[in-house]
This record gives sequence, structure tokens and C-alpha cells, in this order.
Amino acid sequence: MTKNTIRKIAVLTSGGDAPGMNAAIRAVVRACAYYHISCVGIFRGFQGMIEGDFKELGPRDVKYIVSKGGTILKTARSEEFKTEAGRKQAYKNITEAEIDALIVIGGDGSFTGALQFSKEFSFPVIGIPGTIDNDINGTSHTIGFDTALNTIIDAVDKIRDTATSHKRLFFIEVMGRDVGHIALNAGIGAGAEEILIPEENIGLPKLLEKLKKSKLSGKSSCIVIVAEGDKTGRNVFELSEYVEENLPEYDVRVSVLGHLQRGGSPSCFDRVLASRLGVKAVESILENKSGIMIGLINDQMAETKLEKAIKGEAPIDEELIRISEILSI
Ligand code: ATP
Repeated sequence: MTKNTIRKIAVLTSGGDAPGMNAAIRAVVRACAYYHISCVGIFRGFQGMIEGDFKELGPRDVKYIVSKGGTILKTARSEEFKTEAGRKQAYKNITEAEIDALIVIGGDGSFTGALQFSKEFSFPVIGIPGTIDNDINGTSHTIGFDTALNTIIDAVDKIRDTATSHKRLFFIEVMGRDVGHIALNAGIGAGAEEILIPEENIGLPKLLEKLKKSKLSGKSSCIVIVAEGDKTGRNVFELSEYVEENLPEYDVRVSVLGHLQRGGSPSCFDRVLASRLGVKAVESILENKSGIMIGLINDQMAETKLEKAIKGEAPIDEELIRISEILSI
């Protein structure tokens, strides 16, 4: 490892919370202890940085959190950090606390803020992708995505039981305002008949046609997974009314899964991913790296410049769209 002057690393979680963030915090804290560096937890994301809400963390402070959802450091969305004055105050607090580098666990907004801060004050910053949306370039998986998918398929499996018993059609709304990774993967995993995502507009006539076909094929229930940002121009309740008006043979119900998708104990995959990313982030700082995100590519730890990680959304997997078409026959 290259010689460096890093003595103290700070870690924060920012933006939407995601299961597995705690496992990443634990990994950062314990890797710091392993390499004999101090570690500081910053509470409530960038807002806590502005307010100096810091606490030194040792390896025993992060016991038992590997299995806990949410984030022990709390998270926040800070408008003040978007201002120069806010970032200056944050830098002042960081310098006074003798912090040498910062690890930011969050999504693209958090990385945008981290990059801005790093450039403005020539301050070493490393990103760890923590968001259930899986919308970051430079990693096949973000922390929390796998757990959210498992939570969703568990809920959809239960809804399927009641849908089948009553021969009903269910529209189930899942998270994903701009991207359909959650809807597409959970839809395939739960055996949904249709999946509506922001990246693809199948149009209402085609939806009706597909649902009609599904009924004729002898299916005793029908599940349509709808991403929040799907392009039909109608929300799940409006879709339900539209289908009931046009296909009276269907008894339609709606379920909005909402915030339960964010919570719960992280899956083993997310715990392992978060542990790997956390350790690698600390090691990268010790190698004097900055302005990068640590991600997972082909099951290996990979570095991507923050500029690239936040550029647009990670593209939807066209193969998965094809698979869902084939399997919904
Ligand atoms: P998620 O994908 O789960 O929503 P996120 O990290 O994208 O997570 P955001 O709310 O977009 O969440 O961003 C988190 C925080 O990052 C913001 O509240 C703000 O403090 C900071 N941030 C975002 N954009 C900027 C920016 N352009 N300049 C400075 N700070 C920013």
C-alpha cells in the first residue's frame, strides 16, 4: 500500500435509506480499526456535516448492526449542502475535527454533492452505492436492491394467493420513478403477467389486448407490476378503473407497496456486498484515491469515477424485458 497521511476517515449515509447501509458502515468502521485509523460517523448525511453532528466510532460501536435495516447514522436530504455557504461550513467542521477523507454511502444525488465538495476543497472522497433503485453506473448492484426485491416478491407471492382464490387482477405499484430495475426484476421473480416500467411505453390498447389474451389462456389470476414512473400516464388506481371499464370480465384490485420496500433485514447478498464495498472504500483511501465510487462488476470490486457513476441512469436490461415477454405467455 502507498504511504499516506490519512489518520481519520469519516463516513455518512445520505439520500434514501437502503437495507445494507448498516453493514457498509460496520465494514468501514472495522476496516479503519484494522488499519489503525480513527473513524468518525457523521449523522444525518450532509446536514450533519454542516451542523458538526459527529461521533467517533470503534469496532464495538457497530456490533449487531450487520442484520439491521435502515442506517444507524440516520440519513437526510440537505438543501443547505447545495449552497456554497453550507459546504463551506461543512468543510470547516471537517477540518476542525481533523478528518482527512470522507466515505459517502448513497445514491446519485449524494455522489453529486460529494463530488462538488471534493472538487471545491480538494478533499478526498469515495462513494459507496447505497440505494434500492439500482440506478448507478459502474456497479451491477447497489446496496439494498436485492433486499428490496426479496421484500417485494414476498409481498407479491402473498397477493397472488388471494388473487388466485378470487380470480382477480391486481395492479401492484412498486418503487421506481425514473427507472424500472425494481419492477422488472421483481416482476420476473414473482411471475407477473405484465410489467410496466418507465423505459418502455406499451400503451393502453396493448395492455388491454395482453390482459384479454391472458384471461383467454385460462389463467386464474393476473398480476401487473407497475413502476411508480411508468409511461401509461395513469397511476395504478386510474389503470384499475380503466381496465374495469374496458374489460368487465376482470375483478380488479390495487396494492401500493410503498415504504415497506425500503425496510427489513438486509439479504445475505446485500450484507456481503456492503461488507466488500466498505472495506475496499477504506483501502482505496489509503491508496490515496479520491473522486471514485467502489462498485461491483462481474463479481469483482471495481472503481468508477464519480462523474461517470452519476451520469444518467444505469440502462435497463433488454434481455430481462425479453424474458418477461416470453414467460408471460
Ligand atoms: P436516492 O437515490 O436513494 O434518492 P440520492 O443520494 O440520489 O439517494 P438525493 O436526495 O438526490 O438522494 O441527494 C441526497 C443529498 O445529496 C441532497 O439532499 C443534497 O444534500 C446532496 N446533493 C444532491 N445534489 C447536490 C448538488 N448538486 N450539490 C450539492 N449537494 C447535492
